[in-house]
Amino acid sequence: MDIAAVSNSNVLDYLNNPSPQTLGRSPLEWLDQLQKPTVVRVAGRDRSRTRAMATLLHGNEPSGLFALHRWLLEQRTPEVNMLFLLGGIYPAKIPPPLSMRQLPEGRDLNRCFKEPFEGDEGAIAEAMLTELRNANPECLLDVHNTSGTGPAFAVSITNDAAHQALTSLFTDRLIMTDLRLGALMEYSEQEVPTVTIECGGFQDDHAHQLAYEGLVRYSSRPDVLSLEKAEWDVTVLRNPIRVELAPEAIIEYRLEPSGQADVTFPPDIEHRNFGIVSPDDPLGWVGKKGLSILTAISHNRTENMEQVLQVRDGQIYPAQAIRAFMITTNPVIAKSDCLFYAVKATGEPIF
Ligand SMILES: [Zn+2]
Repeated sequence: MDIAAVSNSNVLDYLNNPSPQTLGRSPLEWLDQLQKPTVVRVAGRDRSRTRAMATLLHGNEPSGLFALHRWLLEQRTPEVNMLFLLGGIYPAKIPPPLSMRQLPEGRDLNRCFKEPFEGDEGAIAEAMLTELRNANPECLLDVHNTSGTGPAFAVSITNDAAHQALTSLFTDRLIMTDLRLGALMEYSEQEVPTVTIECGGFQDDHAHQLAYEGLVRYSSRPDVLSLEKAEWDVTVLRNPIRVELAPEAIIEYRLEPSGQADVTFPPDIEHRNFGIVSPDDPLGWVGKKGLSILTAISHNRTENMEQVLQVRDGQIYPAQAIRAFMITTNPVIAKSDCLFYAVKATGEPIF
């Protein structure tokens, strides 16, 4: 049977071994030429194996696109076949390019990798899963950026040697979660080691460089799934809680409270990302409502906030030594998503 007839869908475009002349001089020129979510295939030295990498599932997270464009221009021959999936081409192309996470009326593509595959994003996710099934890769990466600045980390639903080895191509921190949201990383359940890589901030040159260097390692090594060959030791943080802020709450980022806010964090709170915060280390301030404007969520359950945070003289302290991450200084994200995630200092879950 003709392979093309099986795998080609009208949802996706296909580029096989693209030559530099077809790639544009910059990632933005290339993006301008791309019309649909796109599959890029590059033949490797060993044609019996394939590694997959998805990126741009969120149209405003460009590190993976930049890395892939640079890597393709260099015309490297990968160790094994490479299958690249560029998901969020439609939101990424909306002017100004690379500014929209998803289409204004659309859904978050990285919540659509599960049945019933409804709507345009569901169709894209289903077509991407079909490509993966046809290519039968030995592993899969999904490369993203965070909204704020901060160090890189990986996320997976499984913590074994293969997932840690994949993580170590990019970073030394792996967050393991039991939550199932319809994210592409849940492809792990198909016995294909799958890791989400958060390269760092979407405007951060270090993040773009890390995505490129990680892609070079991922595509050039004979073995990326053995921990003995890992770049560095991986710290695993299990089942973090989400600390959420009430939608009506007022948050300010200031060196000291103005008296107007329900919660105040110092403007450099992002420097706390992944560091250990001890119980005598103040994180910020609360207003008259105290901790009632904050909620700790784990496994979709509300947990006892007093095991996470405590207030003394209006200041917020951890109730036990914690490691917090994905701390944001963007008040919109703080209210619509969450303030931060946290585990015990040991990396174990708080609940
Ligand atoms: Zn993302």
